Amino acid sequence: MTSPHPSPSAGPGPRPGARPRPRIGVIGTGTIGTMAAWRAAERGAEVVAFDRDAPGHDRGAAGGESRIFRTAYLEGRRYIPLLQRAEGLWRELEDRTGHRLLDLCGGLSIGPTDDPRMREIVEGAEEYGLDHRVLTPEEAAKRFPQHPVGAGETAVLDPRAGVVRPDAALLAAAARAEELGARIHRYTEVEGVERRGAGWSVTAGGRRHDLDRLVLALGPWSAAPGTFAHGLLASAGLQARQIPMTWFPAREPDALIPGPNPVAIRVGDYGYSCFPVMDGVSVKVSPHSAPRPAVGHPGELPPRAAPDVVATARETVRRHLPGLHPDPSRTAVYADLFSPDGHALLGPLPGSPGVVLATGFSGHGFKLSPLFGEVIADLAIDGETAYDIGHLDPARLLGAAA
Ligand SMILES: Cc1cc2nc3c(=O)[nH]c(=O)nc-3n(C[C@H](O)[C@H](O)[C@H](O)COP(=O)(O)OP(=O)(O)OC[C@H]3O[C@@H](n4cnc5c(N)ncnc54)[C@H](O)[C@@H]3O)c2cc1C
Repeated sequence: MTSPHPSPSAGPGPRPGARPRPRIGVIGTGTIGTMAAWRAAERGAEVVAFDRDAPGHDRGAAGGESRIFRTAYLEGRRYIPLLQRAEGLWRELEDRTGHRLLDLCGGLSIGPTDDPRMREIVEGAEEYGLDHRVLTPEEAAKRFPQHPVGAGETAVLDPRAGVVRPDAALLAAAARAEELGARIHRYTEVEGVERRGAGWSVTAGGRRHDLDRLVLALGPWSAAPGTFAHGLLASAGLQARQIPMTWFPAREPDALIPGPNPVAIRVGDYGYSCFPVMDGVSVKVSPHSAPRPAVGHPGELPPRAAPDVVATARETVRRHLPGLHPDPSRTAVYADLFSPDGHALLGPLPGSPGVVLATGFSGHGFKLSPLFGEVIADLAIDGETAYDIGHLDPARLLGAAA
């Protein structure tokens, strides 16, 4: 898909013939809200943003040191054009800020050859002409002995995959948004929003802010009981869930840094997401078979992974990851908001004119966050976007007029 937007060299500011500068309120500057603030500011909008914490914090969906970026996508091939544009936007953010954020160290997807998710990766890559390589177990063993591939399994190498540091990425996007004039109210919880004339009034930190359009990007707080958004979104079936992470010391850390070691995802029994060494010592393993208990309010997250999670992670490592010591050196728990169908809610909030809802990224929203930020800027500024995001329309879960 050709981007409907100016190239990075075109510089910030409204497009020729654009409508007057709208005042856009972004509620939540975690992952998606920070990117929305950046993209809207790049397009010349006046951005006023709020967060109960500050961009780059680790208590919501952006914590945990690293995020996988991949282009060959088991969640569905219609994401591929969005992922390709997202890669360009990661590079634009790097160029604008001078920070290196996305390391394309390659990605391996491993699983039973006949698993529908593996078929989707291969067929999607073929349909979109992605540079990729399907490896036999023998080929994989030569190149990536740290990720054994069994009989009846396939490994797909995606060279346009890699790793992003979430805290660095969000700090960079927030800095760029502020450089362009965005105002980010840190440690300022939004207590309520109400329709006022053709716009919206936001109450935060004891003050009222009048805005033309709103973006709700509350992540795992979106469905938390007692918050202003709870009533708006209660019928969508959203659920905040814990996502535990475990770090295992590498037997040879230098062999597992980005470059020799790609990011890896295994589907099937004791599946995992696994990262290169980012801290000089250990490899982060997200054990997919571990339980992901519901959490009412992200403030209630436990500080460490539960014993059953640790047991599952140890078994995952024992079966599949010979380059790691068998016991984790640290564990932590984060949260994301999951929708019933595993796809985000991104688009106009039914029944609330001028409000863009951006939530429910269901464990896979980070890699696409700059692109989602651009989509949100389109919707908030123009009321429409040229990107194909029909499958994310909130109306599918909230009804036409909630
Ligand atoms: C551990 C973990 C690993 C993951 N791994 C990957 C991966 O490898 N690749 C990938 O693509 N995706 C991954 N994901 C998913 C991805 O990180 C999330 O989908 C994405 O970060 C969701 O962002 P968000 O903006 O919806 O939520 P958040 O980033 O949590 O942002 C929500 C923000 O809203 C603020 N807020 C809430 N209520 C209020 C209020 N009333 N007033 C003001 N501010 C408020 C919060 O403080 C927070 O900053 C992972 C997620 C987790 C948790």
